[in-house]
Amino acid sequence: MLRRERSEALYQEALHLFPGGVNSPVRAFRSVGGTPLFFQRGEGAEVVDADGNRFIDLCGSWGPLILGHAHPAVVEAITRTAAKGSSFGAPTEEENTLGRLIVDHVPFVERIRFMSSGTEAVMSAIRLARGATRRDLVLKFDGCYHGHFDSLLVNAGSGLATLGTSSSAGVPQALAELTVVVPLNDPAALEQAFATHGDRLACAIIEPVPANNGLLLQDRSFLLQLRELCSRHGALLIFDEVISGFRVGFGGASMLYGIVPDLVTYGKIIGGGMPVGAYGGPAALMKLIAPDGPVYQAGTLSGNPVAMAAGHAQLTACLRPGFYTDLEARTRTLCEGVNAHARQKGYAYAIDHVGSIFWGFFQARSADARSAHVQRADAIRPGSMRTYGKLHAALLERGVYAAPSGYEVGFLSDAHTDAHVTRLVEAFRSALDAVLG
Ligand SMILES: *Cc1c(COP(=O)(O)O)cnc(C)c1O
Repeated sequence: MLRRERSEALYQEALHLFPGGVNSPVRAFRSVGGTPLFFQRGEGAEVVDADGNRFIDLCGSWGPLILGHAHPAVVEAITRTAAKGSSFGAPTEEENTLGRLIVDHVPFVERIRFMSSGTEAVMSAIRLARGATRRDLVLKFDGCYHGHFDSLLVNAGSGLATLGTSSSAGVPQALAELTVVVPLNDPAALEQAFATHGDRLACAIIEPVPANNGLLLQDRSFLLQLRELCSRHGALLIFDEVISGFRVGFGGASMLYGIVPDLVTYGKIIGGGMPVGAYGGPAALMKLIAPDGPVYQAGTLSGNPVAMAAGHAQLTACLRPGFYTDLEARTRTLCEGVNAHARQKGYAYAIDHVGSIFWGFFQARSADARSAHVQRADAIRPGSMRTYGKLHAALLERGVYAAPSGYEVGFLSDAHTDAHVTRLVEAFRSALDAVLG
């Protein structure tokens, strides 16, 4: 059994300080049961909690840490920059350096604007789309997450392609009604939504690799259809690549699928573990943003030099030839090792992956399914989340820290070695035997 005294004590204290004891809800372990572990330090692929337990980390701070924890180049960039002053509220060379790296490598990003979170990036990109098109409606997909701002905390109403209903208290219905919600990977529903609302849509926003509600890999033909419908109806296409950008490849999902959006949003990896978000696109569109244009958007800490330097150090390491193919190969080894065991034992469990993002689900993959992927939010059985809670606990006991929710994906980092992968496969096999055997 894990020692948990210190984490437990810290959690009891935190309950008197923060709502639910945490500063972001999923951290509270509500969906897996039990109380959260408090982390003390991270070293490459591993984390150590407040009681001194050591785990192989599969969460990676929810995606940003593609080099693992405390990578020497990132730590060096942070300390070197912070020693010169952590913020000026004025331009710094560090902004140019990170901006240049992104603009040079992502062809459709001619201009970029940095801010401090992915939520801010999406919120600002949508404001820009509305300002550019002088339209109000936004189309999003059920099962995609775009941060916690009002217009996108919206669920599908009843029926296909309906105007949304808010998914959080505090979001005015009037605002939710400006959001159209359609199911993922459903060409007919998409066609219908554009037929009904197309001439009022400012934009459609999608995670081209939906990875915040399971991993719901889309058919390329569906993403192409979306691109084509946006162009035909004069709506902008926003790829929210906060999670997939620089993760499924340096050019993100856009390069992976060969589809060019009008605007892209980034976060997570581009900050090297520091808070950064960004949106970018063609110069002609980006010039509508203040101070060049009428769309206002600002930030006291935007383009923070310490965060810029951390992001630059991390992205530079990602440019190493073979970086993404190596990472994908290790992820495939992990998934295939676990899937082979599940198949052999007849467990209804499988792990899907793209690049170094993976997600396990408690469903048998039927041989005649049209796709090997789970592709829609409503294809995930809510009841399976109880089983995930057991798997999560069994993995913790075996020295593996997976995300404390079955709807969350996992990540490998460059710091996860072949030896880590071997240990992970063993831990998953043994944990699955304990839960499903
Ligand atoms: C994480 C995420 C966000 C929100 O970013 P924050 O930095 O948490 O505000 C938005 N969109 C996607 C696709 C994300 O993965």
